[in-house]
Amino acid sequence: MGSETVAVIGGGPGGLRAAHGIVDVGSKVVLIEKREFLGGTPIAENYAGLTPHGEAAEPQMQRMAELVTSNPNADVRLGTEVVSCEGEPGAYLLTLTGADGTETIEVGAIVLATGFKHFDPGRETQMYGYYEFPDVIALPDLEAMLKEHSVVRPSNGEAPKSLCFIQCVGSRDRQIGNEYCSKVCCGVASKEAIEVRELLPDCKVYIFYIDMRMYGYWESEIYWPAQEKHHVQYVKGMVTEVLPKGDKLIIRGEDTTMGRPMEIPMDMVVLSVGMEPSVGTREMARVLGVKQNRYGFIDAVAGPLDPVSTDREGIYACGAALGPADLEDTVSSASNAALRAVAFVRSRAAAATA
Ligand SMILES: Cc1cc2nc3c(=O)[nH]c(=O)nc-3n(C[C@H](O)[C@H](O)[C@H](O)COP(=O)(O)OP(=O)(O)OC[C@H]3O[C@@H](n4cnc5c(N)ncnc54)[C@H](O)[C@@H]3O)c2cc1C
Ligand code: SF4
Repeated sequence: MGSETVAVIGGGPGGLRAAHGIVDVGSKVVLIEKREFLGGTPIAENYAGLTPHGEAAEPQMQRMAELVTSNPNADVRLGTEVVSCEGEPGAYLLTLTGADGTETIEVGAIVLATGFKHFDPGRETQMYGYYEFPDVIALPDLEAMLKEHSVVRPSNGEAPKSLCFIQCVGSRDRQIGNEYCSKVCCGVASKEAIEVRELLPDCKVYIFYIDMRMYGYWESEIYWPAQEKHHVQYVKGMVTEVLPKGDKLIIRGEDTTMGRPMEIPMDMVVLSVGMEPSVGTREMARVLGVKQNRYGFIDAVAGPLDPVSTDREGIYACGAALGPADLEDTVSSASNAALRAVAFVRSRAAAATA
């Protein structure tokens, strides 16, 4: 028989965009999200403004969600997970569990949009003290403070007079096996640096980087304004250690431009943590039987001209489930995956009636 309905697993920006793409062309979608809310990591992690233009994350995600939830062709299942996948391309049988019990649905194709998780800086081989020193925080922690318009030192509740970002925490690191660049953290750190300078004009803000990696327009829209307009100071250097000294933190490492050791006191340190596959991405790869790459992201097996196909026919992936991705990458691959999935189920249906 087969089904013309597409299942989208994951209700973050990627899953929402894919689901919207599917209903927009008149097809049916079942959107399966394991959390009790839509919007993905930007909502779960309290993102404030989105790069590059700084729009508030929450209303943006709400708008994306409404485009799906208001459409009669969308069946949205919150608090629901896929526990098994049987059947064949064109007629996959997914068993779902959620608050309403267990149910098996038939779908013709699947879009995997299960996203990423932030690297846990407690796992870092270098000595940054994320779990030891309260004034060492990570990008999403600062993002949550910025959303509340209140950036303070967790140790004493006072506004910091100096704050620095340490880039590439958990990315480009062979020792821990994450050799890849996480793509977004240079831009996100620079955006947050601007926001801190706007909120606390007396706070000196530094970014310690190995290389600054700004893609496309982020260079002109974030990086140059951060330096020229907001006086964020970029220091090319390797930070090897963060140590407490009195009520300060000492940044120890090497200024690689000057070729000399550096030791700089700071009030607050922000670790620019990278992206790793979410637990859900790893788990769904196993349940659906699709190939993962060496880092645990979904393997787009067909190469750069077909970046959303997995090694199972009728199963596509998008967004950060495929690897580090910003929102633009995410919604682009999601639209691509939606189109491929709809084309797949329709071609199956047409073949069956021919
Ligand atoms: C610190 C930081 C800040 C960032 N800020 C920006 C920014 O300002 N601008 C920008 O362009 N990009 C930003 N990004 C990148 C952005 O967060 C991602 O591009 C985007 O969230 C990817 O969307 P996604 O839908 O693929 O994944 P996610 O947002 O991770 O969503 C995945 C969804 O899948 C769900 N899920 C997971 N497993 C399952 C399962 N088994 N069953 C059902 N559902 C499941 C999750 O609950 C979640 O809702 C930032 C990234 C980081 C690390
Ligand atoms: S985007 Fe920047 S901080 Fe993030 S991994 Fe790449 S180079 Fe490092």
